Amino acid sequence: MPIIYQQISALRTALQPYRGQRNDNQNSQQRIALVPTMGNLHDGHLELVSIAKQHADIVVVSIFVNPTQFGVGEDFDSYPRTLDEDVAKLATVGADYVFAPIIDEMYPVLPPPTAVLAGEITTQLCGRSRPGHFDGVGIVVSKLFNIVQPDVAVFGQKDYQQLAIIKQLVRDLSYSIEIIGAPIVRAADGLALSSRNQYLSVTERQIAPALHQELQYLAKQLLNIEHSQQEFAALLAETLARITDAGFTIDYLEVKTDQLDSVPNNAAIFNAENQDLVILVAAWLGRARLLDNQLVTFK
Ligand code: AMP
Repeated sequence: MPIIYQQISALRTALQPYRGQRNDNQNSQQRIALVPTMGNLHDGHLELVSIAKQHADIVVVSIFVNPTQFGVGEDFDSYPRTLDEDVAKLATVGADYVFAPIIDEMYPVLPPPTAVLAGEITTQLCGRSRPGHFDGVGIVVSKLFNIVQPDVAVFGQKDYQQLAIIKQLVRDLSYSIEIIGAPIVRAADGLALSSRNQYLSVTERQIAPALHQELQYLAKQLLNIEHSQQEFAALLAETLARITDAGFTIDYLEVKTDQLDSVPNNAAIFNAENQDLVILVAAWLGRARLLDNQLVTFK
């Protein structure tokens, strides 16, 4: 079973010997991996741990429902908290340590009067409908990086914008941490696994895979047509209508470069330039806000 720590100082003490070995003897390097989560773990999270184990000797999984990344009226209070089950699942994939702090341990002052992120990457897409969300993600991930000081950290590509922001954070704050993006783990019918899927009713759960199917369909269309700006806009509008008709309320549906830059006005060039694209969607189905994305690779 992984060992659970609630206090920063205790976790640091536990990890210190591995750093000692790392410093004393380059041949017996002990690499530490961090997998940040909000708990209520599913196979997507467990896959991140398995990937982390391939890149490190010691895997620390943090479980913290981070209040600063939830907006007013969002599901902070009702977010499922299942620590005992989570720890049992983590034992099956060989996680070594669980860091499960209480809020006071992470935030001596709440909200913290410190911010680490800036720029359009945090205000577009999910940042537009969830103002302040990525400020909360930025601060909690920075704190976790400083607490654990991992060599490598694993995040899911399911939260594509989050992964891009964290890569930017590591670059701009000179963290010496390798960031690994893990592929999206899906249910057999294609729905991306998410702790929030349990908010879906039985009927909604049957509808939910349509989101992934529509993204796949749009990706195929983007690969197959000669893009003019007009065709491109029409394809997006058609996909938006199909998702809406299936019963979703769209928050956003956008096509971006894989770096999350805007696709150039003359959309025909992304094919010619082998510019990879990503289709990103957030859509409400009942109480659940579902996120998904699909890469479009022209090479
Ligand atoms: P969360 O607990 O929702 O904050 O997610 C913790 C980490 O797990 C994030 O890096 C997510 O991107 C990742 N994750 C969540 N769901 C999936 C999934 N279906 N496939 C891959 N990674 C995921």
